Amino acid sequence: MSAERKVSRAAADVGEAPRVLQSRSGAPPRGFAHTDAWIFDLDNTLYPAECNLFAQVDHRMGAFIAHYLGVSYAQARHLQKTYYRQFGTTLAGLMAVHKLDPAAFLAYVHDIDLSVVPEAPELRAAIAALPGRRLIYTNGSRRHAERVAEKLGVLDLFEDICDIAACDYVPKPEADAFQRMVRRHGVAAERAAMFEDMPMNLTAPHDLGMTTVLVHSSYLDHPVQEQMKTWTELPDHIHHMTLDLAEFLAATTRVCGDVSRSRPPPG
Ligand SMILES: [Mg+2]
Repeated sequence: MSAERKVSRAAADVGEAPRVLQSRSGAPPRGFAHTDAWIFDLDNTLYPAECNLFAQVDHRMGAFIAHYLGVSYAQARHLQKTYYRQFGTTLAGLMAVHKLDPAAFLAYVHDIDLSVVPEAPELRAAIAALPGRRLIYTNGSRRHAERVAEKLGVLDLFEDICDIAACDYVPKPEADAFQRMVRRHGVAAERAAMFEDMPMNLTAPHDLGMTTVLVHSSYLDHPVQEQMKTWTELPDHIHHMTLDLAEFLAATTRVCGDVSRSRPPPG
């Protein structure tokens, strides 16, 4: 069994300790030897879920919906969660059912306090050392991604940000969303790696041929997090899992460097 397949460090302080998981099939996971495009989800992936930014966004979504539809906050919260589960994102539900203007919604819900997001020099060093292109791919807005990445101190390391507007508001986990992202940025999926905190957002990347990495999240407002507590092994569409993104990337870069040095010189 590959050690890469195991969680890369001891449990973080996220309440119940995450367990070390191994693959279901026992087959060697897709690796990074040919990876030249490194694609990162933003929320609860590039910054730790413990920042709990989503609590702020979550509240502002409810407030926006209450005002927009003229309903109580409690009713708005119920609709918010219903749409999230039914359509993949609350925004997708509001657009489909209520013909909402997405730009106004996104600007409001992402107008949050980022003081809880720490500067992340270790993550910066690890991302800077990755061989190839780096992209952020988020179901949120470009402005939100820029603000958060700036606060982390990593924004200048990314070639571009693919946000929900760039994908014509088709959200992850839909396969069409990933296909739009790949086309838009000229990514060769079989030479790309996708980092995500939501397991279902790695199904389409796996099917496209990407190497997939689940970044453990303590975000507990989704049924999948409850399901994950019962996992005894990684689903086949998840090739790697880590509790510490910076450490995982640094270890991966060391392995890639060792591989490239061991290759014969071209020609
Ligand atoms: Mg996320």
